[in-house]
Amino acid sequence: MSATVEGLVIGGDRVAAAEGETFDVVNPATAATLASVASAGAEDVDRAVAASMAAYERWGALSPVTRGRHLHRFAALVEEHAEELALLECRNVGMPIGDARGQLGMIVDVIRYYAGAVDKFFGHTVPVERDGVAMTFREPIGVVGLITPWNFPLNIANWKIAPALAAGNTVVLKPASLTPLSVLRYAELAIEAGIPAGALNVVPGPGGTVGSALVEHPGVGKIGFTGSTEVGAGIARRAAAGIKRVTLELGGKSACVVFEDADLDKVGRLAPYGVFENCGQDCCARSRLIVQESVADEVVERYSETARNLRVGMPESPETEVGPLISAGQRETVERYVGIGLEEGARIVVGGERPNGELSGGFFYRPTVLADVRNDMTVAREEIFGPVVSVITFRDEADAVAIANDTPYGLSGSLWTRDGARQLRVARALRTGVLGVNTNSSVFPQTPFGGYKQSGIGKELGMEALAHNTELKSVFISTE
Ligand code: NAP
Repeated sequence: MSATVEGLVIGGDRVAAAEGETFDVVNPATAATLASVASAGAEDVDRAVAASMAAYERWGALSPVTRGRHLHRFAALVEEHAEELALLECRNVGMPIGDARGQLGMIVDVIRYYAGAVDKFFGHTVPVERDGVAMTFREPIGVVGLITPWNFPLNIANWKIAPALAAGNTVVLKPASLTPLSVLRYAELAIEAGIPAGALNVVPGPGGTVGSALVEHPGVGKIGFTGSTEVGAGIARRAAAGIKRVTLELGGKSACVVFEDADLDKVGRLAPYGVFENCGQDCCARSRLIVQESVADEVVERYSETARNLRVGMPESPETEVGPLISAGQRETVERYVGIGLEEGARIVVGGERPNGELSGGFFYRPTVLADVRNDMTVAREEIFGPVVSVITFRDEADAVAIANDTPYGLSGSLWTRDGARQLRVARALRTGVLGVNTNSSVFPQTPFGGYKQSGIGKELGMEALAHNTELKSVFISTE
């Protein structure tokens, strides 16, 4: 294997793909090639699952306390290498360096959370009618196959890897082909931290072959997937054949609902970050701005002013707030949606174009606000996954809830109002898995994260992720 090729991680070693194939990954800010990566195939998935099954014999047998200690060492090593990992993420995803550093902070926190949580997650003794003791045990599943997207590559992989390992499973991960670099380095650090060779394997390669081989592999007990609803539905169908456990984190079309009594200054300054961060490539992006008619003009003006002034730039500059889209194809998708929006009656208030100058070599697109959108228009129904927000107006509270819920998705959202009773009423009425009130923040290591409706099945984070990574056994010991 050439020294410049990033090998797969299988059984604790960096190795070439069995077929010797490679693929290039690029920096979306410049379109320059960043690295060449070994491209796994079905045979490599077999090797990785075999290594994972062998490692499970040791890792799964350790006490939760011991696994927690290993994970604490891993967290410390990731923290030590946070700047290196943040730079990899910044260059491969085009994520502004400040945001990438923030992601690394969460990654370390999540590993520490599960390192500390796993010995506090246990079965119960249960009162029953017969004489004896009924009890439950939490046991690992075995080999967990993970498939992840390109928008927050390391953070999302870590959300899945940390609880899977903590619970005693071993892992084979297929990262998105566009962004494999950070998780390959992270897997090396896991080995350096003393997590047994084979407990975490990483096999980059095409979703259609590597992802499919993982989903169909008889040695894999669970699939954890994050990505599009379309691919997720196909994975669920194929995993059903082997009755594999499946969790799915899928697409979104989340609402930012603004009532006339909200702090409109705060809405104007902060709410745009709820859609334009990571250039809108966020499953939680509040891409529908649903505003009460009486304040719509004022909110659109304030919100658009912030959007206009967001610093679009090279991701490695600490000043940059919005980097490029991930690929030329993703930018074309965004441009096509804006075009459809205009044809269906929307109006561009700000953005709607590529920046030029030093940014013309990358896949940049300006933060875009589309006004005069109705909730039945394409830009309000489909996930654009780019820096575009659609403004829709409502009359009263019932109207706001109806519009916000009129979507096949239900992942995230924000609600802005100073009325405490309304905060509770509307928060309960919205059919969404995650919600921030008077804030864009709603994701924490400690709280469950996941979608309603077509946004997914199961939860990441919190103790719920440990539940999804374990089997629950009931044992009755008779004393009769
Ligand atoms: P995607 O096209 O569904 O790909 C996701 C992953 O699935 C990639 O690793 C991909 O591999 C793999 N894959 C593709 N086809 C496959 C197949 N037939 N069998 C098995 N695996 C397959 O999604 P994406 O474009 O990377 O990410 C964007 C989507 O992810 C958006 O819809 C977004 O909302 C969603 N997302 C959801 C969450 C959440 O937590 N709910 C978080 C982030 C993103 P390749 O890269 O090789 O194609």
